[in-house]
Amino acid sequence: MAVDSAISSPLGPPACEKDAKALRFIEEMTRNADPVQERVLSDILTQNSQTEYLRRFKLNGASDRDSFKSKLPVITYEDLQPEIQRIANGDRSAILSAHPISEFLTSSGTSAGERKLMPTIKEELDRRQLLYSLLMPVMNLYVPGLDKGKGLYFLFVKSETRTPGGLLARPVLTSYYKSEHFKTRPYDPYNVYTSPNEAILCPDSFQSMYTQMLRGLQDRHQVLRVGAVFASGLLRAIRFLQLNWRQLSQDIETGTLNQKVTDPSLRECMGKILKPDPELARFVRHECSKESWEGIITRIWPNTKYLDVIVTGAMAQYIPTLDYYSGGLPKACTMYASSECYFGLNLNPMCKPSEVSYTIMPNMAYFEFLPHDPNSAGFTRDSPPKLVDLVDVEIGKEYELVITTYAGLCRYRVGDILRVTGFHNSAPQFHFVRRKNVLLSIDSDKTDEAELQKAVENASRLLREFNTSVVEYTSYADTKTIPGHYVIYWELLVKDAANSPTDDVLKQCCLAMEESMNSVYRQGRVADNSIGPLEIRVVRNGTFEELMDYAISRGASINQYKVTRCVNFTPIMELLDSRVVSTHFSPALPHWTPERRR
Ligand code: AMP
Repeated sequence: MAVDSAISSPLGPPACEKDAKALRFIEEMTRNADPVQERVLSDILTQNSQTEYLRRFKLNGASDRDSFKSKLPVITYEDLQPEIQRIANGDRSAILSAHPISEFLTSSGTSAGERKLMPTIKEELDRRQLLYSLLMPVMNLYVPGLDKGKGLYFLFVKSETRTPGGLLARPVLTSYYKSEHFKTRPYDPYNVYTSPNEAILCPDSFQSMYTQMLRGLQDRHQVLRVGAVFASGLLRAIRFLQLNWRQLSQDIETGTLNQKVTDPSLRECMGKILKPDPELARFVRHECSKESWEGIITRIWPNTKYLDVIVTGAMAQYIPTLDYYSGGLPKACTMYASSECYFGLNLNPMCKPSEVSYTIMPNMAYFEFLPHDPNSAGFTRDSPPKLVDLVDVEIGKEYELVITTYAGLCRYRVGDILRVTGFHNSAPQFHFVRRKNVLLSIDSDKTDEAELQKAVENASRLLREFNTSVVEYTSYADTKTIPGHYVIYWELLVKDAANSPTDDVLKQCCLAMEESMNSVYRQGRVADNSIGPLEIRVVRNGTFEELMDYAISRGASINQYKVTRCVNFTPIMELLDSRVVSTHFSPALPHWTPERRR
C-alpha cells in the first residue's frame, strides 16, 4: 500500500517511508543537477589537489570549472597507463587520488588484450551502494507487491588476482558481492533473494549456478522476478537448467545435494534448507522433459512479474530469445554502470527495451559530454574538443561520455556513445547507443576490428604450407545457440587445389583465432562458459564480390566500398550462408589463466 500522500513524490506515490526518502533524493539531485555537479567537481579537485596528477597540470588548488576545463586534458586509458602501472607495482604515493587506492576493478574493456585496471577507493563502495538503494523504490512505483515474494537472481563472483604491488584486481561486481555492504545487508522485504550468499560467493561457477537454480526451483511460487546482470547471463541459466534438470529433480526428490557440489559452506547451508519434495521433483521433470521450452520461465516461476536484466546496447540481440523463454515478460533495465563509475538509473524501468533511457545521477561523478560526430576525424592539439556539461546537452544529439571521478580519473573517456532523449527535472536522460569500436560481443567480451584483423592474420599463417591465403573475411555474433559464438566467414585463395587445407587445419585456425583474442573473450570461453567455440565458415570464391555488388545495388559508392568486418543484416547473412562450402569449429579451449600477461 502506498504511504501518506503528504510524502508523495513527483515520480509517483512511494511504497514505504524508506522509498519516499530515496525518491526525494532523486528529485533533489535531478532538480539541482548543475549545482550538484559544480559541488562534486569542487569536492573532487579539493580532495585531490595535492595529487601528482593535478599538480602536473598546474591546477594550483583551483576547484572551479573554468580552471579545470582550461588546464586538464581529455584522456583515454592508454594515456594513464604509466600511472596505473606504477600503482599496480606498489607505488603508494598520491598519484591520481589523495585517498589510498583500495583495489583495482578489472573492466571488461581491454587494452593490449588485457582487462583495463581501474583504480578505486573505499568510499566509492558507498556511492555504488547509494545508487543500488534507489533501484527498488523506483521499481515499486511500477510493480506493487514485490515485498510479498522473492527475487531469483543469478549472481556470480569471478576470479581475482593481485598486482605485483599486492593490490587486489577483480571485477566491480565481485568486489561488491564480497563487500560487507552486500554480505551483511540488513533485511529488506523488497530485496529478498532466493540465492544464499554462500552460493553467490562460491568461486566455482558450476557449484554456484547449481545451488542458485536449486534454490530458485524450491521457492518457485514465491519468485516474483527473475534476473541476472546481463541478458546473456539469464540465458546461460536457462541452458544450465536444460542440461541439469534431471540431477536437480533428483536432489529435490531425495532432499540431498549433488556430490559435484563440494564447497563445504554451500553443503552446510543447503543441508539446512533441502527437504525431500517429490511433488516438486515430479513437476520439474514434467515441465523440463517437454519438447518445447517456450515460456519455460513462466511455467516454472508462474508469479514472475518481470525479468530484471540489461537488454540495452549489445544485449539487445538477446531480446527475441528472452521473449521466447518468458512468453514476452517485461524486461526491466534498471541501471547503467561501469567499473570506472556507476552512472545512473532508469526512472521508468517497465518501459519497452527500445525506449530505455538512463538518468545520470549528478552526485556520482563529474560528467562531461563530447559531441559525437561519426564523420569527424577526431580532435587534435590545435582543435581541442568542446565538451558540454551535464545540464547543457541537447535532446536528440549524441555524445561520448567523459568522467571525472573521486577515485582520480580526470576527464576520462569511457567509450560509450549516448543519445539524449529528454530530461527529468534538469538532469538529462540518455539512450545507450553503443560502445565505440566494438565489432563483436557475446557476453561481456568486446572485440574490436583490429583484434579481429590480428586474429585472422595469426590464424592464416597456418594456411601458408597449403599455399592458401584468406582473401576476404567478415564476422557475426551468432546468438541463436546458448552460449553464443563468433562466426567468421572466410573466402580463401587456394593456389594448389591438390593440396587444399584440411578440416583439421581449419579447426586449428579457429583455435588460433581464439588464442589471439583478448583475455575477456578467453575467460568467457574457459572459465565462464559464456562463449561457445569459434566457427569458421569457408565461402565459395567470388562471394565477397557478390556482397559488393549487393551493396552497390543498394546505393553504396563503388569507389568507397569497404568490406564490413561484421554483418548483421539478414539479406547479407543469407547470401553468405548460401555460399558456405564448409564449416569448422574450434576443437579445444584457448589458453586462459586469471593472471595478466603483462
Ligand atoms: P565494465 O567496465 O566491464 O563494468 O563495463 C561497463 C560497460 O558496460 C559500460 O561502459 C557500457 O559500455 C556497458 N554497460 C553497462 N551498463 C549498461 C547498460 N545498462 N546498457 C548498455 N550497456 C551497458
